[in-house]
Amino acid sequence: MQWEDMRKYIDSIQLGVGRDQVYWGLNGNGRFSTKSMYKWLENPLSGCHFRWIWKAKIPLKIKIFLWQLSQDVVLTRQVMKERRWPGDPKCSFCDNTESSRHLFFTCPVAKVVWRCVGMAL
Ligand SMILES: [Zn+2]
Repeated sequence: MQWEDMRKYIDSIQLGVGRDQVYWGLNGNGRFSTKSMYKWLENPLSGCHFRWIWKAKIPLKIKIFLWQLSQDVVLTRQVMKERRWPGDPKCSFCDNTESSRHLFFTCPVAKVVWRCVGMAL
């Protein structure tokens, strides 16, 4: 059944004669910006905004990681502590608790990394 659905979907796609173009859906102008990606990722880490992950044309391991991040189940020190890990839940770079949000967005080191990514792109 899924095969037939996929065939119908593919048959409905109209290909143009021009060159393919990459379009970034998180910006109104279609261009990639780290600001738009950061803003999107900074949205609530849990919720129902994760379905796009499975439709994205990115490697499966990245999809799985982003899904884990959206569900806040990445094995951070905070998550491991909740699973009775005996270690210290503090971030390796600062004194805050290492949660997904902290590790990827609010930690001073994460902010520097995001800035470097922005400059590199
Ligand atoms: Zn930190």
